Amino acid sequence: MIHQFDAVIVGAGGAGLRAALEIPEGYSCAVLTKVYPTRSHTGTAQGGVCAALGNEEEDSWEYHFFDTVKGSDFLGDQDAIEIMCYDAIRAIIELEHMGMPFSRNEKGLIAQRPFGGHTKPKDPNNPFGERVPVKRACFSADRTGHVMLQTLYENCIKKGVQFFPEFFVTDLIVQDNIIRGVVAIEIATGEIHIFHAKTVMFATGGYGRVFRITSNAVVGTGDGFAIVYRRGIPLEDMEFVQFHPTGLWRLGILVSEAARGEGGVLRNKHGERFMERYAPTIKDLAPRDVISRAMYTEIREGRGIQGPDGTYYLLLDLTHLGPEIINKKLPEITGFARIYLGVDPLKEPIPVVPTTHYAMGGIPTNVDAEVVIDDKGTKIEGFYAAGEVACVSVHGANRLGTNSLLDIIVFGRRGGKKMAEYIKERDFAPLPKDADEWTRKTVERLLNSNGKERVSRIRTELQEIMMDKVSVFRTEEGIKEAIEKIKELKERYKEVKIDDKGKRFNTDLIEAIELGNLLDTAEAIAYSALNRTESRGAHYREDYPKRDDQNWLKHTLIYKNEDKEPIIKYKPVVITKIPPMERKY
Ligand SMILES: Cc1cc2nc3c(=O)[nH]c(=O)nc-3n(C[C@H](O)[C@H](O)[C@H](O)COP(=O)(O)OP(=O)(O)OC[C@H]3O[C@@H](n4cnc5c(N)ncnc54)[C@H](O)[C@@H]3O)c2cc1C
Repeated sequence: MIHQFDAVIVGAGGAGLRAALEIPEGYSCAVLTKVYPTRSHTGTAQGGVCAALGNEEEDSWEYHFFDTVKGSDFLGDQDAIEIMCYDAIRAIIELEHMGMPFSRNEKGLIAQRPFGGHTKPKDPNNPFGERVPVKRACFSADRTGHVMLQTLYENCIKKGVQFFPEFFVTDLIVQDNIIRGVVAIEIATGEIHIFHAKTVMFATGGYGRVFRITSNAVVGTGDGFAIVYRRGIPLEDMEFVQFHPTGLWRLGILVSEAARGEGGVLRNKHGERFMERYAPTIKDLAPRDVISRAMYTEIREGRGIQGPDGTYYLLLDLTHLGPEIINKKLPEITGFARIYLGVDPLKEPIPVVPTTHYAMGGIPTNVDAEVVIDDKGTKIEGFYAAGEVACVSVHGANRLGTNSLLDIIVFGRRGGKKMAEYIKERDFAPLPKDADEWTRKTVERLLNSNGKERVSRIRTELQEIMMDKVSVFRTEEGIKEAIEKIKELKERYKEVKIDDKGKRFNTDLIEAIELGNLLDTAEAIAYSALNRTESRGAHYREDYPKRDDQNWLKHTLIYKNEDKEPIIKYKPVVITKIPPMERKY
């Protein structure tokens, strides 16, 4: 079946929904999503969304700008970061006016709390001197993403945006650098649909499921990354994978940084508050890359606590906060600890380990969410990307907490505005013949295969090797081992067999296609990580432990190369106001 829409947005998380609100009346807009819209991962975000509102204490967007640049380990593009931090204040007030129920302070203003890496100068006359934590994260208890997603969804419904829930997008239709649409499988019927479009936005979220332990929802299989990568569009900075320090031990379910923002502390087996040694000034509120490395170091040096299964964890101690703060400001995450680990955070500390959390890299875009495929600014006309799947790049080598919910509403909106301009000026570019060929052939192959490989087996082996060799600590030897394994798994994937041969709700089939996406995404991550012979932000190479601005102050662009090794090129970092300096906390 062929549909025609002026704008097709893939993904109903915060980025996709915010973009959809910009498509003007009189033009058609379809939002495709593989899960029901309000089950998008944005809905699980806990801690907050930041803006220098200054509701609790003096703050300024320029301090926020500095923190984000420093947090990114100077790899973030400063023009984009400036736009985001400056626009944050307007964006939050806009959400408030759309009806988002923020938590309030005693004055009735939007309440704000501290979050990792968000600081201000201790002495305002010395902006580059010592910095102290600042209350900058706006929140709705610990369900900020949930209320943000519901608010945006309601506004889309009010506006008449057309949703296609449980439509699984498999391919992008692009020819001569001009976008023509997407191909999707309707999960309920198995039917293949072509969406012919003037503009397409990918807002498909992250890829956490490439790794064994992750905070990401099961849908986070990196589809958007893999689809564009297969179509010859590069991915930017894929080596930068964020590990969040506090995942529930063994499960990876997130305990928001808000727990530390409210005063929680990390302890080792001696009860020592070990972050005092690694980040003497801001301690437990240091950025995530710094804390995750500190935690692994504690475990390696024998100060972790061993569980009955032989694996190690550390402790997140909230016991001193008292029931008032825990029940009012952290109800959801403390509930997770009770339900999944049987631990009552009011009385005992929570066992935690770093968990795969966020993709700093992604589809390269400019500050208007237009996809740009090289260092010369060449665009794919009519193609946009926003949110976690995109790399603007505002997060550089390491994202600060609460900057992603901000990124999605700022750049979702900017992309939506550009799409609106484009659809007014342009006609539909014709569809190529056989636009759904790749999807048809892939589905036929999977349904008819009599191979002996299983999806779950290959997926688990991939997740294990990525977790062991391409996570917080990396070496050339380890990454090469992972690459060999990925090659082997890709070969075995060709022999994968599924049991369900039917059409309706064939989740076997969807999972098999998702596995192909996980494999391609993992390839891009591993090769990018092997190539970058320095340590910066979340990318830590034990064999190259220092940041090397001389050779590596540049973005990676990785291009797929059929079945051969991918090709790697570079793009300069945009530096406007803050020259790279040593990053200490
Ligand atoms: C547990 C958790 C807590 C977090 N807490 C915070 C926080 O407090 N503050 C903060 O700033 N950030 C937080 N983050 C990060 C932040 O929530 C995400 O980065 C952000 O919400 C991503 O939004 P998005 O719109 O890009 O994508 P998502 O919300 O992930 O949505 C992706 C959409 O794409 C669709 N999709 C994907 N693939 C396909 C396909 N093949 N076909 C069709 N549709 C597809 C999905 O169905 C979904 O609708 C958290 C993340 C997690 C996992």
